[in-house]
Amino acid sequence: MYNTPLLDLKAQYKSIRKEANAAIKKVLDEQSFILGKDVEELEEEIASYCGTKHAVGVASGTDAIQLALRAAGVGSGDEVITVPFTFIATAEAISNLGARPAFVDIDIKTYTMDPRLVERRMTDKTRAIVPVHLYGQCVDMDPIIKVANSRGIKIVEDCAQAIGAAYKGRKAGSLGDAGAISFFPSKNLGAFGDGGMVVTDDEDIYNDVKLMRVHGSASKYSHSILGYNSRLDNLQAAVLKIKLKRLDGWAEKRRENARFYNTHFSKLERITVPFVAPHNVHVYHQYVLMVDSKLRDKFIEYLTANGIESRVYYPIPLHLQQCYKDLGYKKGDFPNSEKACLSTLALPVYPELKKSDKKYVVEKVKEFHKKVHIIERE
Ligand SMILES: *Cc1c(COP(=O)(O)O)cnc(C)c1O
Repeated sequence: MYNTPLLDLKAQYKSIRKEANAAIKKVLDEQSFILGKDVEELEEEIASYCGTKHAVGVASGTDAIQLALRAAGVGSGDEVITVPFTFIATAEAISNLGARPAFVDIDIKTYTMDPRLVERRMTDKTRAIVPVHLYGQCVDMDPIIKVANSRGIKIVEDCAQAIGAAYKGRKAGSLGDAGAISFFPSKNLGAFGDGGMVVTDDEDIYNDVKLMRVHGSASKYSHSILGYNSRLDNLQAAVLKIKLKRLDGWAEKRRENARFYNTHFSKLERITVPFVAPHNVHVYHQYVLMVDSKLRDKFIEYLTANGIESRVYYPIPLHLQQCYKDLGYKKGDFPNSEKACLSTLALPVYPELKKSDKKYVVEKVKEFHKKVHIIERE
């Protein structure tokens, strides 16, 4: 339906097909599916890639957040500070532990947690902070680390969109007490199904997550705590090892695509291109533009009519979701998050995007831009 889709996983598969198929065949021949050798090797490789001592493969990014938080001591009645401008999984992981998400607003330039708001949101019940490295760019972590350390509060980074991103030379996942990675197929490092990983330097968090993912069991049929069934498949790990070798190259392509868009779009009035903080290396999980909220939906319509897929991440902030009605938030509580929901859209930025596709997107965005004054008079 779209001649320029938001993501083209088939193009990526084509580029690794032989290697991936051989790796899958090997796992099939061995019939070793749960937590096998490939999982162990991937854990070592991801830990080394992220600059942490340890990594533990789990069933999803959501589980990675939840298990890391529980290992960091979060439980019933606690509060965990995070943002309302993120995917539901961030807050869901908190709530499913019986804790309560305590939201703080985002910085409107970076779309990530505003570190200036964190300290005043802390209470006696605050146990942890979950900064979300949204769209592939790290949160401004140092001020958050400073207040968290001074109060003994743990940090679990939501790195679902940011594997490979860096902040002041340090990799996403190595900045807090633990990092949660997602291998959901559409993420920058995507499996052929669900998967996730916790990365950490902390021995206790490492040991706890390892226990939790196999029913709280260090040796068979002996259970020291109640855990979960949350393991990474060996098949997925075998595929991910192949993709990990290419991840930096893919990120470079994403940055190249973003630069191409920026050179054309930054001159256009009323279109705001992504802001990259000077200390950050962005991995552009998404390339997101901001326009006037009155124009946003017409913009999407125009792109759709021209075969270009774009998408809103995210249309409804978490504090206004029906499932969080009981938290008692209302419209206006987090103006930046609400503004971002109404005025942003993501364009195709995936690594396999062809030069002709990029040029076509630029052409159509410019065409729309020319029509803006007409639309505004309507
Ligand atoms: C994808 C995503 C998750 C959840 O990851 P899953 O692997 O799908 O469970 C969590 N947080 C953010 C910001 C995400 O984008």
